[in-house]
Amino acid sequence: MSIQRSLVLIKPDAVRRSLMGPVLTKLEETKLTLIAARLTRVSPQLAADHYAQHVGKPFYNQLMEYITGKIHGAPYDKVVALVYEGDDAIQKIRSLAGDTNPEKAQPNTVRGMFGRITTAGLFENVLHASATPLEAEREIKLWFQPDEILADIYPTKKSGTTRAWERIPAVSEL
Ligand code: GDP
Ligand code: MG
Repeated sequence: MSIQRSLVLIKPDAVRRSLMGPVLTKLEETKLTLIAARLTRVSPQLAADHYAQHVGKPFYNQLMEYITGKIHGAPYDKVVALVYEGDDAIQKIRSLAGDTNPEKAQPNTVRGMFGRITTAGLFENVLHASATPLEAEREIKLWFQPDEILADIYPTKKSGTTRAWERIPAVSEL
């Protein structure tokens, strides 16, 4: 057992189909700790950085259109980005998510329950979850500023003044 973090994205198909709540419910059932959360649009640059390992694959262009929200369109062109922390977080969330291919995913997994393959061949697989600790660290740094993470991970020196309303107090300051 080791404490790990995992970056989870609730993808635009889940936003489109009102599945943010059900997916969060399943994630909460893991009893992992949520330490960061943000609703965001995904720029082409962030999408390319996030999925850099898939450049050149046959589904790459479609994947870029999917994660940037072009396929599902406004007002669903957004994702919920989350960071969970806890024992064995990566494997716990990958097991909960199920197979990448929603038709192969077991029916008791999130992708098995809510995912589908569209007639255009898109894997609408509801969520992203980090696959390894290294991938998690890379992804969390890509998606979140240190100040947005409510736990002391990947410490970075802070400089400059922050306005009070945008500063998240540490537990020790409350
Ligand atoms: P994941 O870690 O389970 O999300 O899977 P990968 O890292 O291998 O792939 C990233 C994302 O690309 C997946 O979640 C899917 O959205 C998409 N993807 C992966 N493999 C395929 C494929 O064979 N066909 C299609 N259409 N999409 C795929
Ligand atoms: Mg992956």
